[in-house]
Amino acid sequence: MTTTSRPRLQTAFKAALARELGQTPGVPPTKEAVFRAAAQACRELLADRWVATQAADNQRGATGARRVHYLSMEFLMGRALGNALAALGLDKLMQEQLEPLGLELSDVLEREPDAALGNGGLGRLAACFLDSFAELGLPSFGYGLRYQYGMFAQGIEGGRQVESPDDWMKLGAPWEVIRRERRYPVRFGGRVVSESSTMGSVGGRRWIGGEVVMAQAYDFIVPAHHSERVSTLRQWQAEASSPIDFSAFCRGEYLEAARHRVLADALNWVLYPDDSTEAGRELRLKQEAFLVSASLQDLVARHQREFGNLDDLGRLNAIHLNDTHPALAPAELMRILVDEHAYTWEQAWTITRQAVSYTNHTLMPEALETWPVRMFEQLLPRHLEIIYEINHHFLEAVARAVPGDTELLRRVSIIDEGSPHTGYERRVRMAALSIVASHRVNGVAQLHSDLCVQTIFADYARLYPERFHNVTNGVTPRRWLQQANPGLSGLLDGHIGKGWRKNLAELAKLGKKAGDAGLQKEFLAVKRANKERLAALIRKQLGPVVNPDSLFDIQIKRIHEYKRQLLNILHVIARYQAIVASPDRAPDGKAWVPRTVIIAGKAASAYHMAKLIIQLAHDVARVVNSDPRVGGKLKLVFLPNYGVSLAETIIPAADLSEQISTAGTEASGTGNMKFAMNGALTIGTWDGANIEMAQAMGEENMFVFGLRAEDVQRIKDLGYDPRLYQEENHQLKAVVHAIADGSFSGGDAERYRAIVDNLTYRDGYLLMADFADYVAKQLEVDALYRKKAAWAERALRNVAGMGWFSSDRTIAEYVERVWSAESLG
Ligand SMILES: *Cc1c(COP(=O)(O)O)cnc(C)c1O
Repeated sequence: MTTTSRPRLQTAFKAALARELGQTPGVPPTKEAVFRAAAQACRELLADRWVATQAADNQRGATGARRVHYLSMEFLMGRALGNALAALGLDKLMQEQLEPLGLELSDVLEREPDAALGNGGLGRLAACFLDSFAELGLPSFGYGLRYQYGMFAQGIEGGRQVESPDDWMKLGAPWEVIRRERRYPVRFGGRVVSESSTMGSVGGRRWIGGEVVMAQAYDFIVPAHHSERVSTLRQWQAEASSPIDFSAFCRGEYLEAARHRVLADALNWVLYPDDSTEAGRELRLKQEAFLVSASLQDLVARHQREFGNLDDLGRLNAIHLNDTHPALAPAELMRILVDEHAYTWEQAWTITRQAVSYTNHTLMPEALETWPVRMFEQLLPRHLEIIYEINHHFLEAVARAVPGDTELLRRVSIIDEGSPHTGYERRVRMAALSIVASHRVNGVAQLHSDLCVQTIFADYARLYPERFHNVTNGVTPRRWLQQANPGLSGLLDGHIGKGWRKNLAELAKLGKKAGDAGLQKEFLAVKRANKERLAALIRKQLGPVVNPDSLFDIQIKRIHEYKRQLLNILHVIARYQAIVASPDRAPDGKAWVPRTVIIAGKAASAYHMAKLIIQLAHDVARVVNSDPRVGGKLKLVFLPNYGVSLAETIIPAADLSEQISTAGTEASGTGNMKFAMNGALTIGTWDGANIEMAQAMGEENMFVFGLRAEDVQRIKDLGYDPRLYQEENHQLKAVVHAIADGSFSGGDAERYRAIVDNLTYRDGYLLMADFADYVAKQLEVDALYRKKAAWAERALRNVAGMGWFSSDRTIAEYVERVWSAESLG
């Protein structure tokens, strides 16, 4: 393939560069211009593959293969050029093109802004899945929104997080392919009228009036690495359906003339507008409805083009809901089938249930999405009618199956009737809608799937046990090993061959060699080089010099109480106090193992406690890092603006991976997988996918600590009192006291009162209960780290054990258990 793509890339790159330089011939191109030219050249080659892939998929009707439509409000793609060049097999050629310009490929790759169209794990999972869709040759579309500013860029001022718009497209969007012919109207508001001429049991309803916004498709093409297949991320841009209001314009009222344009535009501004306000919540619901309506209109139009009618739509298409954010999809599909295509309710429902499946991502009841019925009445009146109808049929079926249990009906209803303390405001339960409308529901790690069935979804699981499954998450080895860690990739190629890039299970071959002293040395040299690279980044961004010989102890993820960055900080404080008290000897009598603790992550803009934790990290870092008594034995670094690219630099440099969520709270985690795959050892709780990782690599190769999910539940049931733990543990008491008395806040005892009070009186995530075991495990970490060969052997066993955690395996399981024709029963 490269024989024809080589000259094509060269020609396309030269032409694109000439276009970029059009205005100023003779001036050497900037790295940004070179990046855009390289991206455009790749895009041309990918566009050919896209056409070939679509042509092949359109023949699939004969085989009955289903096309998967993955609906997600988030796709955390990161950078694309390095991945595209590697997939096309053209990275060396591009390097040659850059030589006459005096540029290194790595410099050009770094000019690409991250496409940060997601919050964290859920969005990155969707991005890994697109890579695997392409790799596995699955007929598929990813559907998302084309956010102009992603989430937000995180800056730190005076130790505090400040948010600013992440203007990632300001220098252009060279990857996008606009599809002018894929453009659909989406309605909000208005009213529903009866229309006697239409058929159907609840048909005869027509939704009219309100405001209509156009959805315009933009495609982003994701290449496979071992074939010429691609997958597509189709992202919707809202555009006003009419030009300016001419009469307002003529009156000189320019703002009024453009009002509807701004309102349409706002749909695409940012992900998760601050939902602490009513306006923010309404915008979020509109975004969800917009994504769903545009995507389903597109799917229906495509199916109609291919097959001439919609009868087999459910058999030939899977519609997957990545969490409940696109849970309006079944209601929208019912609307299209019944109102616009005159299917009966029963026919439409059969098609819908065949198509729809749903992945749950969180067990926390407060995180389960609900929307006020009132908001539906205003924005989505027809969908509300349809949801009522779905609920009516569902509750009737439940009442038939379990007669006389009105309490059950109340619990499982899609409509929450409210309670005295919610003022009886009725709300739509999006998870209930998703479950009722799906033929498959899955969790994302075994423990999480088990807990779904035992706790939040217990009623539904008793009614429909066959619906509930587990599909454990995975990550793409192309980005998270091959691209992020060329050093380790080269080492693997040399020792076990290159097959792991396509079939990650081949990593297991490394297990037999983990005891090999030569391999261990090579591994440690690779790790050391990666740590130097990260140390250089820290120095460039923040100034402090960190020692690459120290143990790099890393926690990077969204800042959230359940993920317990605070527990990590408590350990840093405990260690700081212990070093000051005994500078020459650690508790085991040996010299301290020097440590660099690195934290990165964003806090949601309205999440006060998470922001306070970021501030505490900075305050503790300032005190610890400047205390001469510490003498290089401990450093704390907070790296701002966490994202995919930063993760790609940080993860390969980790010695220790912090995966310390309260047991039973982290659905799966995927950061945990990336670290272990790159030869970091994990200190972690028995939670999420940590459990399956430990089982895969051998529990003795992970530092497991803390309460298990069933202990957490038991302790909470008995009435948890965090004060008891503080009273009986002097070290813990001293740590909390130091935060309380202003030791890290220049004597200001108020600054962290919310944290101290929480740790003392509530501690909902049981930091106090897990502290002692955590600190003890950290000493075991030190002890092993002193023995370089033993550490390297364990790290290699971690890598060897991670073969199962490829998103290729995950997607193969989705195909088998969730999306296959067989799963329809
Ligand atoms: C993998 C990844 C995550 C998820 O990390 P967890 O530790 O599983 O929460 C979040 N953000 C980015 C940028 C990632 O790459």
